[in-house]
Amino acid sequence: MGAGEFDLIARIRARAGTRDDIVLGIGDDAALLAPPPDRQLVVTADTLNIGVHFPESTSPADIGWKALAVNLSDLAAMGAEPAWCTLSLSLPQSDPTWIDAFLDGFLALAARHGIALVGGDTTRGPLSVSVTAMGLVAPGRALRRDGARVGDDVWITGTIGDAAGGLAHLERLSSPLLRGRLDRPTPRVDAGRALVGIATACVDVSDGLLADLGHICGRSGVGAQVDVDTLPASDALRTSFDDVHRLALQASGGDDYELCFTAPTEGRQRILALASQLDLPMTRIGRIVEGETVQALRRDGQPWQPVRRGYDHFDSV
Ligand code: ADP
Ligand code: MG
Repeated sequence: MGAGEFDLIARIRARAGTRDDIVLGIGDDAALLAPPPDRQLVVTADTLNIGVHFPESTSPADIGWKALAVNLSDLAAMGAEPAWCTLSLSLPQSDPTWIDAFLDGFLALAARHGIALVGGDTTRGPLSVSVTAMGLVAPGRALRRDGARVGDDVWITGTIGDAAGGLAHLERLSSPLLRGRLDRPTPRVDAGRALVGIATACVDVSDGLLADLGHICGRSGVGAQVDVDTLPASDALRTSFDDVHRLALQASGGDDYELCFTAPTEGRQRILALASQLDLPMTRIGRIVEGETVQALRRDGQPWQPVRRGYDHFDSV
């Protein structure tokens, strides 16, 4: 990116956090990290492209927050403790003001979770942000998608549908809560870590609840039933949409970054105790059954037909 690239990297380096287990951070050809010998390394990467993963109107600080949040959410869904991350930036121009604002959002969330920025890449091109996040988990303890068993309950953290509601109302004056959930998702890192040893399978809701639960079913070789009338909704979502639209947003809208997990029925009390301890609602929304599909059911047991099943980037290709 020419001379500007080094100025930008210097700005990033000056503000990146540190940890005792970083032997060498930003500034060499690669970072040197010292993972503890008694942990497995959990690695995930996610890219945000302008107009696809965030609206053009998103502020630089919110882009920074969200780029890290979606990766922390993947670590959370694995039950991992965040440790290090890298940041690959494609920018249309070398703009220090933009970088500073971007870092405000990115580093505020990083500090909250003790994750340190140890490297990356800076190039010129259409605005795109790619983060790789690394975390740690005790050997064999990670929350995977393939552990759900017939008879398990299906649970969801927090409320769902808010981010999709914020996106649907982008052109109008949407509720600040809904827009906030779209722009600044809260990765459920503490919940994911606490669910190790309790949940049998876990996924974060990024593409839509039914689609993401379908990933657990596919990997576990089971089916699921979701009682759509039990899906937890925020007051903001309830007042912004009628029930038909709200249910569609909740069942199929993405970007909430809540955790959907399965657990044996014996775990109910423990999960509810954990929810109150973390001050984060955890709601039972269905069950794992034999089969291979995710069925959405109304209160009367009749099937509910979703308007669309999650978001597929290659839907229209
Ligand atoms: P190289 O050409 O050897 O890949 P660079 O000039 O791209 O090195 O990067 C120099 C240093 O700055 C490296 O340590 C790299 O990891 C870091 N770096 C570059 N861009 C970023 C970024 N956007 N965020 C964090 N670190 C970065
Ligand atoms: Mg490079």
